[in-house]
Amino acid sequence: MAKKKIGQNFLIDKQVAEREVDYVNPSEEDIVLEIGPGKGIITKLLAKKVKKVIAIEIDSQLINNLESTLPDNVTLINADALKIDFKSLPAFNKIVSNLPFQISSPITFKFLKYPFSKAVLIYQKDFAKRMVACSGSKDYSRLSVGIYYKTHCRILETVSKEFFFPIPKVDSSIVELIPRENPPFKALNEQFFFDITKKLFGHRRKKIKNILEDVYSKLENLPYLDKRVEELTPEQIGELSNLLFKINH
Ligand code: SAM
Repeated sequence: MAKKKIGQNFLIDKQVAEREVDYVNPSEEDIVLEIGPGKGIITKLLAKKVKKVIAIEIDSQLINNLESTLPDNVTLINADALKIDFKSLPAFNKIVSNLPFQISSPITFKFLKYPFSKAVLIYQKDFAKRMVACSGSKDYSRLSVGIYYKTHCRILETVSKEFFFPIPKVDSSIVELIPRENPPFKALNEQFFFDITKKLFGHRRKKIKNILEDVYSKLENLPYLDKRVEELTPEQIGELSNLLFKINH
């Protein structure tokens, strides 16, 4: 029985799995981290094309089944991917996953704390839309700003929910994430920028002035006060955050 609570919607279409692996541009030098190998549909295809796969699976029952069916270049680890320190793993350069949707956001931001060249990840379609959304769109969110700041992100294709079992409520998207070498603009203090972004999107329909005046004084000379955060590009949010940071530190 698939365990709904830990996002067990298994991919059942081999062609989708093959495309997922091809998008990685697998090479014989690659060491690939896979989160949630499940029954191994992606893992087995990947293992044929890369040097090594490190697969982290939380469900020990699945681990037992997988152990006898996977080739020697797959290292299986029975752990929670949110808890394990990736530094304790052999160094990897790429990431692949059909992600359990419950952990989409925290695992994505965890990936971005470690070095890698490319990730190819399957998310729920709506989450993927929020990842790539631009200012002015209804999907534009704190997630869009964080992903834009840290990565080059694009949706590669939409996958029908019929290609998973049990069939989930919504379609999925395959997403490519490439970490940026340098951020697209300079945040004087990254944590402050992320905190301000969170605060502003917590009240996306309010004018910026009305959100900030509860916390900060001396707002007079700041730009964009009569706008709502959903109208501002990440660069403009960065500009506002830098000015606020300078006034207050
Ligand atoms: N890769 C398989 C496939 O494509 O069919 C399974 C994908 S399924 C959407 C997600 C997998 O992640 C399941 O096998 C589930 O047990 C595992 N999983 C869920 N939460 C996890 C976590 N925190 N750490 C590691 N694995 C997790």
